[in-house]
Amino acid sequence: MYRKFTAAHIFNGFDWLPPNSVLITTADGGIVEIAERQNAGDDVEILDGILSPAFVNAHCHLELSHLKGSIAEHTGLVDFVFKIITQRQADAAAIAAAIVKAENQMLQNGTIAVGDICNTTNTIEPKKTSSLFYHNFIEVAGFVPAAAQSRFDAALQILQQFKKSTATNLQYATINPHAPYSVSPHLFNLINQYPGNSLVTMHNQETPAENEFFKTGSGDFLRLYEQLSIDISFYKSSGKSSLQTILPHLTNKQSLLLVHDVCTEKDDIKAVNQMIASGLISAAHFCLCPNANLYISNSLPNVNSLLNNQCSIVLGTDSLASNHQLSILEEMKTLQRHFPQLQTSQLLQWATTNGARALQMLQTLGSFDPGKKPGVVLITQVQGNVLTNKSTAKRII
Ligand SMILES: [Zn+2]
Repeated sequence: MYRKFTAAHIFNGFDWLPPNSVLITTADGGIVEIAERQNAGDDVEILDGILSPAFVNAHCHLELSHLKGSIAEHTGLVDFVFKIITQRQADAAAIAAAIVKAENQMLQNGTIAVGDICNTTNTIEPKKTSSLFYHNFIEVAGFVPAAAQSRFDAALQILQQFKKSTATNLQYATINPHAPYSVSPHLFNLINQYPGNSLVTMHNQETPAENEFFKTGSGDFLRLYEQLSIDISFYKSSGKSSLQTILPHLTNKQSLLLVHDVCTEKDDIKAVNQMIASGLISAAHFCLCPNANLYISNSLPNVNSLLNNQCSIVLGTDSLASNHQLSILEEMKTLQRHFPQLQTSQLLQWATTNGARALQMLQTLGSFDPGKKPGVVLITQVQGNVLTNKSTAKRII
């Protein structure tokens, strides 16, 4: 039993298909082939809008879903991070209910896979039976060098809780640094040396104060350590950006997923590319979460600079603590509004094939290649093949 779909515009994960193409799938969404309309036979479902492989959300924190609406917009990163650390505790049932609700929202709005940051085991149960695919980024933080081993061991215990399950979704899990400003060199080294830790993500250059702290040892981040009562008298600034300071600690052929990149400059990209050229890291992807950047600090990444330097761009939503919804389509719409020169096909590629590649799921997801089961999304309320403010997306398989 096959299903056959056609629409005015079909994006296959890389580019637009010729007009009159028909997507043929098995009943459960396995891609069979792309046929021409005249060879596709009967029972072709004619849809209005854009057909695309389902979306990959490369950066989310499902376990923070209960914080939706609880932190004001435009606080800036330092106050936002402080509020997350001090306000994330809540009733276990409320946390669990919010996770399930947020996951359902993602399923409805066109998502198929998620790179999910985990500081706890709170998402293990819902993920066991989820029809979304996950890479679980177990996150560790600790800026005081003496705490490195105990922080790492705690993260390792969470990792083991995930991996001991037989559910496929929980097998894909690695240990990841939170951010340059929250992880000591010793802790970076423990993460770097951990066997099999081949896919590593990190919050990167989210605000100018992060680079300022590493370049000069001053700025708004001093307030964060003070608020958290962390004695940083041991700290010496490197004179380099945050990313360039910590890159030498990642040398184990990891694929890097750098998230936010609001203040990532040409020199930073060059340093990443040098690490790739010398075989120290295997790849780098730059994950944009524009709605979270607007929410937290009313800023946006320099998309043109990332594009001009041939970066692989992927998309994420961050958490409901810093976003009104977990929707990759809404991230694309925001980018198109602020960077009108971006083509819809570029945005869709970031949301599909690039995201699947970054999460190492390209073999099965991301494009309409025969044999894959990438999910099928219909985007409606478009103008031709261009997204509008009213566009909506839903999974049809
Ligand atoms: Zn995040």
